[in-house]
Amino acid sequence: MSNVLKAIKGMNDILPGSVPRKDKLPDSALWSWFETTVRSVLGRYGYQYLLTPTVEPTALFVRGLGEVTDIVEKEMYSFVDAMNGDQLTLRPEATAGIVRAMVEHNALYNGPLRLWTMGAMFRHERPQKGRYRQFHQLDVEALGFAGPDVDVELILMVRRLWQELGLVVGQHVRLELNSLGQPAERLAHRNALVAYFEAHAGQLDEDARRRLHSNPLRILDTKNPAMQALVDAAPRLMDFLGPETLAHFDAVKAALDAAGLAYRVNTRLVRGMDYYNLTVFEWVTDQLGSQGTVCGGGRYDGLFEQLGGKPTPAVGFGLGIERLLLLIQELGLAVPDAAPDAYAVIGDASALPRALVTIEALRAQGLAVLMHAGGGSIKAQFKRADASGARFALVFGADELAQGMVAIKPLREAGLAQTLRPLAEVAAWARELRNA
Ligand code: ATP
Ligand code: MG
Repeated sequence: MSNVLKAIKGMNDILPGSVPRKDKLPDSALWSWFETTVRSVLGRYGYQYLLTPTVEPTALFVRGLGEVTDIVEKEMYSFVDAMNGDQLTLRPEATAGIVRAMVEHNALYNGPLRLWTMGAMFRHERPQKGRYRQFHQLDVEALGFAGPDVDVELILMVRRLWQELGLVVGQHVRLELNSLGQPAERLAHRNALVAYFEAHAGQLDEDARRRLHSNPLRILDTKNPAMQALVDAAPRLMDFLGPETLAHFDAVKAALDAAGLAYRVNTRLVRGMDYYNLTVFEWVTDQLGSQGTVCGGGRYDGLFEQLGGKPTPAVGFGLGIERLLLLIQELGLAVPDAAPDAYAVIGDASALPRALVTIEALRAQGLAVLMHAGGGSIKAQFKRADASGARFALVFGADELAQGMVAIKPLREAGLAQTLRPLAEVAAWARELRNA
């Protein structure tokens, strides 16, 4: 079997639950249910769907995300188009591509837009539970709004999504919040940080000395216990935020308070991309080990300009679908049953035409009917009917059809009797079932 081809490491097949698999990844029914719920929730907030390409010019991400971010430095799937030499990259996130599209189509000409998309993202990371090389995100963006109103609306929309998925806010997922200020405030803080660490150069470890001028903020993330006291006493960005930034942050917090949504201000919360400013947030869980962030986002008022567009305020988030579904699966939350209403057992080939007409009439009434295909004994067909999880078996046997009837056999409810119905009246039965 050595010539059997396999998927690329870190890139997963998403399959129906009936396919046994060792890796225990969420099955496609969970994905479908998530997508349906997303469409329903986002529609209620007026978000519109869009799709952008999976492949973009490499320069888009280098310019958009920032040259010294983890993603651009070491996680991008970049390649040269063998046909024409173009530098291309499989998108590692969705926001840069969406902003590129908005600028290209002058899409905000008629006013602000609320948008969402869903799809595959690619990052060359070490694969582990909740971290893959191809993964999927729900991505939501509110473009042309300065906030703070829409910042809060976005966060509340995620809370509603959690509720409709059965996740308990505060127990299964919690909200962390921070303000990253404006670029000038960040620069003042950075300068103060460099001065502070220079003044204590003797206490810096080798890593920190290397980062002192390239990325001093990263020193704050040190895992070295010997440097903890130094880092704890370092200048804090909060102390460099001006009145406008603080007013924006206070307004977000006040609105969340009013909406009864608890949050923790985490002054250490930064995001992986350079483009964020003001409000940033993450929804985190304790149940997935170190892959605990299921949703992260914030404001990125500078990105449009960075990508050659007019200055445009914007805010958005990305939600990691694999992580979220793993969480839902691990918590054992009830997921709506995807089993068909009925399984059609077909006596023999001569039964097929009338069976098909009848099944179509049921589907026209909105019933999900799984038709047995491929023939076989009635006994074998009943086995399949049971395995399908259907509530009823519809038996199109020679005896029933001779009387112009179909037998309806309950498969799940003990004590419910089998009935015979005229073929011409099954639509009425479907309506009874629906209204029951
Ligand atoms: P992390 O800190 O876990 O690497 P990140 O900050 O790189 O996450 P974002 O770029 O903010 O992640 O992406 C938004 C969400 O997408 C994350 O919160 C996470 O749920 C999901 N995500 C990011 N990278 C991966 C990955 N490699 N595999 C699966 N999901 C991912
Ligand atoms: Mg990452």
